[in-house]
Amino acid sequence: MTYLADLFIDGVWRPGGAGERFDVIDPSDLSVIARFATATEGDCMAAVDAAANAQEGWAATAPRERGELLRAAYEVLTAEVERFAEIIVRENGKSWSDAIGEANYAKEFFRWFAEEAVRVPGDYRLSPAGDKRIIVDRQPIGVALLITPWNFPAAMATRKLAPALAAGCTTILKPARETPLTAAYMVEVLRRVGVPAGVVNLVTPMPTGPLVAKMINRPEVRKLSFTGSTEVGRDLLHVCADSVVSASMELGGNAPLIVLPGADMDVTVEGTLLAKMRNGGAACTAANRVYVHASRHDEFVERMTAELAALSVGPGLDRSNQVGALVSTAERDKVAALVEDAVSEGATLVHGGKSSEQGAFYDTTLLTGVRHGSPITSTEIFGPVLTVVRYDDVDEAVRMANDTIYGLMAYVFGEEREAMAVAGRLEAGMVAVNRGVVSDPAAPFGGVKQSGLGREGGSDGILEFLEEKYIAVTAHS
Ligand code: ADP
Repeated sequence: MTYLADLFIDGVWRPGGAGERFDVIDPSDLSVIARFATATEGDCMAAVDAAANAQEGWAATAPRERGELLRAAYEVLTAEVERFAEIIVRENGKSWSDAIGEANYAKEFFRWFAEEAVRVPGDYRLSPAGDKRIIVDRQPIGVALLITPWNFPAAMATRKLAPALAAGCTTILKPARETPLTAAYMVEVLRRVGVPAGVVNLVTPMPTGPLVAKMINRPEVRKLSFTGSTEVGRDLLHVCADSVVSASMELGGNAPLIVLPGADMDVTVEGTLLAKMRNGGAACTAANRVYVHASRHDEFVERMTAELAALSVGPGLDRSNQVGALVSTAERDKVAALVEDAVSEGATLVHGGKSSEQGAFYDTTLLTGVRHGSPITSTEIFGPVLTVVRYDDVDEAVRMANDTIYGLMAYVFGEEREAMAVAGRLEAGMVAVNRGVVSDPAAPFGGVKQSGLGREGGSDGILEFLEEKYIAVTAHS
């Protein structure tokens, strides 16, 4: 079934101004599932106009009212979680359990920020000289442009929409072209619960770069929140500089996973499986390189190989498969090329290593003898490929872990005191100790170095969409 899906501008679903459309593909069989409207420059400008016109009214609504709308969206997504997950599976290709996991994670941002909407902090104090009262208020920053990737089409959108709306900002959501249907479904849910016209808009501009730049350079747009590659993030920071737009950036990762000599192997295997295989490895937090102490190497490799071999790879709508498709055949071929390159420079292919003939599937794969510094350890793999590097000395493992321009996520498995000491030395915005997943709407998500700027979720997430205003009033004692 192919259907037509439209842009959402100023409270109305409508085709693009030029009547053009692009295909949305099911990666498990490469069939066309929808023809989505392409946004022209006129459509993008109309979205900015709608958001700008709605900004004052939305900012003036009571925080409780905004919170209750977000809470209502959470309730709808809870009631419709299977439908929500099915849309994610159809256009992204991930497994059913990954999609249900994402749907549940995504809707939690609406619940969390429904609660944060009414807890925005301020400050009030007497100046040191005693001459004035210093009042620090927080106000919505203004129209926010939210750009999301295809790997978590729901959660990356709600992680931005929820705090922006809670803060009182109006929004323009630009999903990845691979996964616009999940975004359209969530926007429709926000419309259904009563979010006013103009507060949430959805556009899919093409060509992307120039039209996004035009939106950022409209004076009403005061915030860019971007999740995607470091390369595109850098370009967008340049664009933001032109009109001094505040930018939150969640960029690429290259997470190391260190197995220390004292690691509990059951916990390590379970955690590594999650850190690597969640979302088929297509996560910026995925363990990209695994450093295993020589004393535990063979045991780790043997057990991980058995675990990977037991996973069934196939279409996500068949709920018995644990690993789904990659988002496209182009992504699958990138993964295949990285594996071939590693093998050609001497790595051993212990398991997997094959692409499917049909659909964008790639085998679960394990490589040993990988050279630290080779392309597969310095590029985000974004596929179900585990690369093992053997080390002898913990200081050397920490040095290799930090030897990257990225700093999003790191994992350590080991005896707790030693693991905590290593966690403190890792250059990463987030570190998981003896566990494979960290993401939680209540925790600050973000990276250091070239993995990003700012934090999403937690109590900081809403602050990214607020600006401080200092009001001085003379103190009469
Ligand atoms: P990924 O590797 O996850 O696809 P990208 O950075 O290419 O990461 O894409 C993330 C998001 O950024 C997507 O919504 C994509 O359409 C968008 N994007 C890609 N190029 C540009 C650009 N030049 N300007 C603005 N957005 C872009």
